[in-house]
Amino acid sequence: MTRSAMTRTALHKPYVTPYAEETLDLPLAFEWAAGEPRLTYRDALPQDWMFGALWVRCGTARDGKILWPMVHTLRQRRCMLKRLCRVCGQSATDPGTGRIWWVMPSALPGDAATWPTVNPPTCKAHLVEALTTCPYLRRGAPAVYTVGDYSPIGVLADLYGEDDDGRVVETRHQIAIGLDEFHLLHRALATQLIVSLHDIQRAPNPANRG
Ligand SMILES: [Zn+2]
Repeated sequence: MTRSAMTRTALHKPYVTPYAEETLDLPLAFEWAAGEPRLTYRDALPQDWMFGALWVRCGTARDGKILWPMVHTLRQRRCMLKRLCRVCGQSATDPGTGRIWWVMPSALPGDAATWPTVNPPTCKAHLVEALTTCPYLRRGAPAVYTVGDYSPIGVLADLYGEDDDGRVVETRHQIAIGLDEFHLLHRALATQLIVSLHDIQRAPNPANRG
């Protein structure tokens, strides 16, 4: 069986869910850049940065205990940048219509022309699985949409500063920061990419059939 066929048929450990073995040390530090303190890693690499923010490092082994309520930062970002399904990590674009399938935890306001979200899309093949097995979705009244397009607008991040002894300490936990809020991005450790959905159309909930 090909890897593709296997991931399409077995019940998934979702692509965006992290594993214990993927938690890495984060050697955070501050450096001076353009006259301002900027959060960095002591051994920073160019790929630690994107959209003007430092990003959480994580492993990619998908091994060890699965950390259910959490989100794997780099796989979440990859899903958003490449329009991939949060369940299987393959394309979430419908080959017939070119539109992207999306499950929201609750219905959007009927007049919403755009909508911000950190939840990556879900491919058509995994709509039912996501709707019926994801504890977060099952607790609410999820709604299914197709989206014509979307674009990155911000990051979900923790903010850091230095205490009186020069130690790097978290000052704000999980706040939304716009990609133009440079004064905050300098102190941010990004954990998820926020995108704005455009051209949003409601679709039937396939889990309600029968
Ligand atoms: Zn999928």
